[in-house]
Amino acid sequence: MPLKFESRFQSFAETSDPARSGPRLAALRKELDQRKLHGFIVPRADEHQNEYVPAAAERLAWLTGFTGSAGVAVVLTDKAAIFVDGRYTVQAREQVDTKLFSPQDLVAAPPSRWLAENVAKGDRIGYDPWLHTPAQAEGLRRAVENAGAELVAVDGNPVDAVWTDRPAEPAAPVVLHADRLAGEKAPAKLARIADAIGKRDALLISDPHAVAWAFNIRGGDVSHTPLPLAWALIPRAGRPQIFVAAAKLSNSVRVALEDLADVREPAALEAALNELAREKNRVLFDSATAPEKLVALYREAGGAADVASDPVALMKAKKNAGELRGARAAHLRDGAAIVEFLAWFAREAPTGKLTEISTAQALETFRRATGKLAEISFPTISAFGPHAALPHYRVTEKSNARIAKGNVYLVDSGAQYADGTTDITRTIAVGRPTAEMRAKNTRVLKGHISIATSVFPRGTTGAQLDSFARRALWDVGTDFDHGTGHGVGAYLSVHEGPQRISKLGAIPLEAGMILSNEPGYYREGAFGIRIENLIVVEKRRIEGAEREMLGFETITFAPIDSALIDAKLLTREEIAWLDAYHREVWEKLEAKVSPDARKWLRAATRRLA
Ligand code: ZN
Ligand code: ZN
Repeated sequence: MPLKFESRFQSFAETSDPARSGPRLAALRKELDQRKLHGFIVPRADEHQNEYVPAAAERLAWLTGFTGSAGVAVVLTDKAAIFVDGRYTVQAREQVDTKLFSPQDLVAAPPSRWLAENVAKGDRIGYDPWLHTPAQAEGLRRAVENAGAELVAVDGNPVDAVWTDRPAEPAAPVVLHADRLAGEKAPAKLARIADAIGKRDALLISDPHAVAWAFNIRGGDVSHTPLPLAWALIPRAGRPQIFVAAAKLSNSVRVALEDLADVREPAALEAALNELAREKNRVLFDSATAPEKLVALYREAGGAADVASDPVALMKAKKNAGELRGARAAHLRDGAAIVEFLAWFAREAPTGKLTEISTAQALETFRRATGKLAEISFPTISAFGPHAALPHYRVTEKSNARIAKGNVYLVDSGAQYADGTTDITRTIAVGRPTAEMRAKNTRVLKGHISIATSVFPRGTTGAQLDSFARRALWDVGTDFDHGTGHGVGAYLSVHEGPQRISKLGAIPLEAGMILSNEPGYYREGAFGIRIENLIVVEKRRIEGAEREMLGFETITFAPIDSALIDAKLLTREEIAWLDAYHREVWEKLEAKVSPDARKWLRAATRRLA
């Protein structure tokens, strides 16, 4: 399938400039004053609670300089604060003028608490109801009202009023996602959704990933995920409506969509909801993505709004045969590119000339050489030595480290191909690794194998499996502070719910779900380890089984660095798993790579025992 949106190489330029924040903050305060507001809340969010937001929604970055993927600023008349989580503490201090915005811990001291302590009686604190879910707005409202102040929904975002060169809303073309890749035609999906609405009269789909899945379309409105920004209203009976800018639709795409639904401008959504409300319909709004604005509007117009989980998320999570066929093909293509990269790295790294940035660029070049890369699925984590100890490290021109001998290089990266989304982490020794690095890497590998080989009865949740990945680390008094696995989309988001393998994974795993298997180990200031493959939940036949059983098929193929393995720490079964995995890597990829890479692959997949 040809690429319909511009291919972009990952950019590493520093986009923030703390010096600009002063005048911008002053302009915002003046605007607030004119609107008789004493404060305003600026989340890093768009109208759909997307993980990657369009440039026009990067209000937090514009105001504060902070470019991380999660955070919020609160601006009051005489003080302001920025809230980020543990991943971004260091980055926020680098990017933000902390004399203007005092840095706060998003989890330990959230905005609601800070607001409760800092607003004065009678203050009017503004927020943009398009950028908060009802639950988020409710939390803020309670905090502000407890302090004797008022939370005010603004009409028109005051940041936009002073952001003179704010980028235009994106308008990337919508493309049809072939039935062959989608594995199910859109009318069948729309009928299944209508069935799942239950006793409600309609569902508002506010998550663009769900719209893209339901209508078998893709787009390019945000980075790293092939999304068209769009909404849809699916009635239990009758014709669906999709709300997407006409500028994004070619004639043929418009005709295809009109076969499925009434195609309307996003601006028509409020009127459509008002009409449903007047007819006293009960509408389901997604608690994770629907903006408070629309729920409030619906209730004010007299409609009954249920705010709960969108059933599409679970449907989308369970991949069908066509999607799984695509995912496997995408992973073989990606695996071949990874092998070319690893062979190149083995040759080049000892020269001492590589940097974190040049290495990430080389990896993207190998993926691009497949001729099928739409885009990388997230900004590459290219981390040497102490940087590898930061699980969410993102290299900048300033932090860019040279890759030298005597430590490990960790690379976590992924690709978007029309047939599938990939996400893989490998940790590679550069020069001779220490005994501790080998021991910790081997324990991470034991956790990885434990997940990959686990079988479990139907109904088992991700939380129940999570400990399998940690046991070997717990044995020596260590752990890692992130989940073991997240859901992955089919040419959609690399982070997809509702399933996950983590302490919070409450959803039972079901056949067809794609997840990551990525235990790690991080020693601050020294080194970090992570081994990540994608796995698919599959039905398992077990001799004598009394329950319906499930297990995992690993679909990522690339060698795991044996220089970082201490075979004495592995059981016979674990060694057998690794040898079998490497045999499969060799057999699947040897014919797909260049002669040089093939030679390297032969050695890299040699039996351990
Ligand atoms: Zn990853
Ligand atoms: Zn991952």
